[in-house]
Parts: sequence; structure tokens; C-alpha cells
Amino acid sequence: MTTVTERQEYTFQAEIKQLLHLLSHSLYQSREIAVRELISNASDALDKMRYLSLTEETQRDAGPLEIVVDGREAERELVIRDTGVGMTHDELVRNLGTIAHSGSVEFLKAMTAGAASKSEVSLIGQFGVGFYSAFMIADRVRVRSRSAREESGWEWESDGTGSFTVTAVDDPLPRGTEVILHLKEDAKEFASAWRIKEIVRRFSSFIPHPIRLGAGGEVINDQKPIWVEPKSQVSQEQYTRFYQHLTHHPDETPLWHVHLAADSPIQFRAVIYCPPTNLERLGFARLEHGLNLCAKRVLVQAECREIVPEYLRFLRGLVDSEDLPLNVSRETLQDNSVIRKIRSAIVKGVFDLLENLAQEKPDAYRTFYSQFGTILKEGLIRTGFDEPQYPEHRDRIAKLLRFASSRSADPSTQVSLEDYIARMAEGQKRIYYLGGPDHASVAKSPNLEIFRRRGLEVLYLTDPIDEFAVTALRTYQGKELTSIDSADLDLPQPDATEQRAEEAPNKESGFARVLDLFRAALGDRVKEVRESRRLTDSPCCLVNAEGALSTQMQRILKLANKEFPEAARILEVNPAAPLIRRLCHLSANAEHEGFIKQCALQLWSSALILEGITPDPEDLVARVQSFMSEAAEKRSPLIL
Ligand code: ADP
Repeated sequence: MTTVTERQEYTFQAEIKQLLHLLSHSLYQSREIAVRELISNASDALDKMRYLSLTEETQRDAGPLEIVVDGREAERELVIRDTGVGMTHDELVRNLGTIAHSGSVEFLKAMTAGAASKSEVSLIGQFGVGFYSAFMIADRVRVRSRSAREESGWEWESDGTGSFTVTAVDDPLPRGTEVILHLKEDAKEFASAWRIKEIVRRFSSFIPHPIRLGAGGEVINDQKPIWVEPKSQVSQEQYTRFYQHLTHHPDETPLWHVHLAADSPIQFRAVIYCPPTNLERLGFARLEHGLNLCAKRVLVQAECREIVPEYLRFLRGLVDSEDLPLNVSRETLQDNSVIRKIRSAIVKGVFDLLENLAQEKPDAYRTFYSQFGTILKEGLIRTGFDEPQYPEHRDRIAKLLRFASSRSADPSTQVSLEDYIARMAEGQKRIYYLGGPDHASVAKSPNLEIFRRRGLEVLYLTDPIDEFAVTALRTYQGKELTSIDSADLDLPQPDATEQRAEEAPNKESGFARVLDLFRAALGDRVKEVRESRRLTDSPCCLVNAEGALSTQMQRILKLANKEFPEAARILEVNPAAPLIRRLCHLSANAEHEGFIKQCALQLWSSALILEGITPDPEDLVARVQSFMSEAAEKRSPLIL
């Protein structure tokens, strides 16, 4: 019998309470992940213990590092015991109840936002709600633990409702942690040997420590590290299983993997994976994962962020090097020359793979790009300290970019900058693009008319980050990237017939007068009103003065509520458009001036709407109504 000398009660943090409620009430599927999570925690504690034993004199004699899973069917109990680092009193209180990991909070948000579907349940591990999943199968949980740093241990206990207790244990406890689950009536199967074996085989085969069935019982997992094997010896299935083990995603298949091996100048092995979906796109917070970093097969840092640049933060996997010291700390990682070299080799390996994928398997590449292209493009924008190899990498990222273009009406037909350059028109010096909220609205832009007429391809930039990326890139293979709503287009020379048509447009004599009336009506709403050489059908369009932000950039900044100097724009008017020609006629008579000015305002408003910018709706509605009344009167000139 344990004598209780000290017992304290604590309440769970509010988020944890909510989480526990959710876990114990609404999730009935995938309950075996609870076992997986507890084994994974035990394994982490063993990793930490192995690390301590190698780095600290006093911990040298660690004894066997192993996990024991014990099912006691008669007592309806499942026990998971490890000889890992254990927890102190404060660690028990903090880790198992008072501080919700950011992962749990994210998970809660995701779960309460949507229904608790099966796929979301499998996210549990990823969000690190790990331990609490015990309450999916247990109605009472006890955790007996002794830290490697202390002589005596503590017992944590809770029924998973409002509170938990932590009590001092007087009997000597072995170092490590024992989690004792009292199983719910409908979960008693988890105490049976066959069920335990099945779960371990399925989920925990890559745990690098022996897992025994019962104390001194058989080892039920295999612990082979696949990254040290030659590529040819590892099957696709093993790669997939290792990914599932690393990410705690038992149902996911990665999009691709790359297995890297080098022996000089630096020895390292790495298996790097790309997950199938980009959670950031689904509205989750910024991905905070990283790669597991091992030194001489010992895990020295889980989720290490320093080993790939930010724009590859979606990658998962493991890196192991003989040349790294075990005591490499988070602070010294950045200046560690071994890490720098490994990082460089990984980035190169990933770019090589992606270029190859784009060439050999365009469909697979498209899938990747649609998920992670947005993150990759950040690599063009971020410069400086977090990306020391920026100049080399930006060319490689630029090569991987894909955009829809005016060449095809199908938004899924995407071109690379290289394809674009290869078919540029004679004399064309720039790469032209137009940004907009979506393919359909970009394709409708009147700015495209002259490009269509002259057969010049225009890239459609519809991802909000696109314009930031191409603006940061500025040039590709010496060709400047230019937004076609800019005033200075620098178009290649038109051929002779086109030139004649463009130089002597069928201009009415009143055109100069119409431009004057437009200027008077629009005032400082625009910077300039001038004749257009880029329109064929539309009466007018808006362009940006040289050096000003493109329309799409202005739209995005506005959406983000960012302050920016409101750029005055240039209204270009097409003298050949039927409406403008009619206005030219009317301008001879001073009586029509008011009407022409109203038309100026309406044309300007319409041009804004086409670009996705909403002008003042009241003015606009009033104007359209007065036009309609006038048109109606013409049809029936009765005075009512
Ligand atoms: P996560 O494992 O994602 O951090 P958990 O809720 O599973 O989240 O665990 C919270 C913390 O409790 C762990 O980070 C670890 O510090 C500690 N912990 C859990 N299980 C054990 C164990 N068996 N041995 C030592 N520490 C543990």
C-alpha cells in the first residue's frame, strides 16, 4: 500500500476540459490511436533518456530502455510503462493538465468548427493532444512517474472531467513512467493481447525501442531504421509506413519522398516527405513542423525548423548525421557548419526532385503545386537572414512557377516562365502578366485586347501571393516581368497593317472635346484621361501610372486593410468604340455636355467594377436609374 504524504488537487485548464469532453463523448472511431499516442509519448521519453545518458555523467548507467504494454483483462486495465526520463511533480502538473499545448488549442478550434469526422480524428496525433486521447478509451487514468532527476515519484490521477490530483508516492518507483488506464466498459478489448499486438504492429513498427508484451514478454515491434538502408532495399510500403509513423497520420500517403545519402564531406542520411495536403490552405495556422534531427541515430531534436528554409516548412521527415554532436542545441544550430551543409544538400535534393517531377510526371507536379505552390512562392519574397542562399534558390523556385495564361481558356492549363519565353513574339522584350481575383475576371479584362490582337501571351496571376512573388523576382532570364495594366507597356513593333489601323483610327472630330469633358467630369478621380492604343472593342479601361502598384496589388492591400497611397489612375478612352463615336457627335452641341459627363462617370465606375473594385454604390445606382428613365422616356414620351 502506498502511504499518501502529500496530495493536491488541480483543475484542468479550460481548453483541456473542453478537449477532454470532446474526446470522451463524441469520438468513437479510431479509438486505437490512444494506444499509439501513449506508446509514442513513452518512446519520446526513452529518446530523451538515451540522450541524457550520453551527455550527462550522472545518468550514464541508464539500464535497459524499453516499453512494456500490459493488458490486464480481469481488471479491465491497460498499462503502458517506460524506462524513460519520467516527470517531476511540476512537469506532471504542467504537461498533463494546466497548460494546453498550442496543438490542442488548434485541434479544438478545428473540431468545434466542423463535425467530428473521421479524418479530423486522425489529426489528433498531429496536433499533439496525445496524452488526453487516453480518455477516449478510459474512464480513469493514473500516471505514476519518477524523473531521472529525482529520488522519489508522484502519481497523477483523473477521471477526465474537471480536475486531477497529484500525490507523492512513498514506495520506491523505478525511473520512468507508468500509465494505467481503467478501460471503459465498451473499450475493454484494448486489454487483450491480440488487440495490443495488432495496434503495435500497425502503428508503432518504427518506434526505435523494444516494445514488450507484458514484463519480460516478447518484443512485438521491429525497430529497423530505414534511412540507413540503401534506397534499393526500402520498399514503397516501408517509406509510406515510416511517413505515417513520423506524422502520426495512419491513413495518409505522402505525395512524394526523397531519400538522400552522403558520406563526404559530411556524412548524413535523410528521408524527406511531402504530405498530401497543405493544412495552411484549409485555414489552419502556419505550419510549425520540422524534420526530426538525429545524431548517430539518437534523436536530438524533434521538429527541427533550422534544417530547411521557411518556404519548405511543409516537408516532414528525418535527418541523421554521424558528424553532429549530441549536444547540439537549438541556439547553436543556426551557426553549425554541419547543419548548414546538410541544409544545403536537402534543399538541392528537393529542388532536383521537383524539377524532375515537373518534367517526368506533370500531373503529379500539378497536384503538388496546387497544394504547396503558394508556400514555395514565399521563397521569392523572403530574403535575408532566414535564407542565406537566396540568390541560388530564387532561380530554382522561379523555374518551378506555373501560371494560367491567355493562351488557353482552360485555367488548369498552366505554363512555366520557360515555356513562355520559348514562344515569345519577335521583338518582345518583356514577360507580360495580369493579376486578378480569379481566372474568369482576368480573362475579361479590356487591357488584354491589344495583346489578343497582336498574339502576345499574357500570364494570369490569380493566387494573391503571385504578384508579390513576380514583383520580387523582377526578371527571369533577363526579361522583365511587367503588369499589363501599367502605363508603359513597351510592346514589340506591330506589323504594317496593324500599324496603319492603330495610327489612323477612325477618329471623330469631337474626340478631343470628349476627352476634355471626361477630364472635367472625373476631376481628381483619375490622374489623366487619354486616348487608348490598347483597346479594340471596349470604350475605355484603367491603367496605372508607371511605377504605381498594379490593380491587383491595390485590391489585395485594400482587402488586407493595409494603408497605401491611393494611386490616381489613368483612364484610357478608345476613339473607335461605337459609344465613344456617338459621344463625339453629341459633343458638337453644348446641350449634351451634362449627359457626356454622366457617361464619363459611369464608364469609369464600370471599369472599376470589371477589376473587382467597388465604386460608391449610391452614385452609381442613381446614375444608372437616370439613364434608364431617359431611355424609357424615349420609348414612350408621355408625361405621367
Ligand atoms: P505531446 O506528446 O504532443 O507533447 P502530450 O499531451 O502527449 O503531448 O504530452 C504532453 C507532455 O507530457 C509531453 O510533451 C511530455 O513532456 C510529457 N509526457 C507525456 N508522456 C510522457 C512519458 N511517458 N514520459 C515522460 N513525459 C511524458
